[in-house]
Amino acid sequence: MTTVGVLALQGAFQRHIEAVEACGASARAIKLPDELDGVDALVLPGGESTAMSLLLGANGMTEPLRDLIAGGMPVFGTCAGMILMAEKVLDGRSDQVQLSNVPITVRRNGYGRQIASFEADLPIDGHDEPYRAVFIRAPKVEAVGDGVDVLASVDDDPVLIRSGRVLAAAFHPELTDDLRLHKLFLELVG
Ligand code: GLN
Repeated sequence: MTTVGVLALQGAFQRHIEAVEACGASARAIKLPDELDGVDALVLPGGESTAMSLLLGANGMTEPLRDLIAGGMPVFGTCAGMILMAEKVLDGRSDQVQLSNVPITVRRNGYGRQIASFEADLPIDGHDEPYRAVFIRAPKVEAVGDGVDVLASVDDDPVLIRSGRVLAAAFHPELTDDLRLHKLFLELVG
């Protein structure tokens, strides 16, 4: 059975664990490097990317995660998790860590204060029913590079992308009961 490690240092990890299990895979909360043994795929949840960066460093997790992701481990990064995977982060903090270099440029809190949180029905490639997406102080994807597939957008801004074995969402797919994106991710894991 596929085992998905869900980074559990901070933020919205519990609902991801439940969603992965509801899809029939095994999920494990990960806080420390030795908990990564036997993990086939990773979820980097939403939360606060700057706080997560500090905790990743404090727990000795930055290098082990970078190595696994560089080695091709599938990753589902959501909101703050998307920020941690981006090649370029605008309005970030200088001590913010980067776990991969997925060729996207994201602006933290890029939807501004007034609409810091909102919901949108997203048409998603390959699906007839729209997907209800919950955005909370979401990053805005301002540019995508080669090899990035845009799977959904809001007002022409990509909000769900795939690059190789990385799936990244600007929103919180764990906050609804719709399991389609976790299933899509598990298909990537193969
Ligand atoms: N604004 C947060 C950050 O910069 C992300 C918000 C979220 O994950 N819901 O990390």
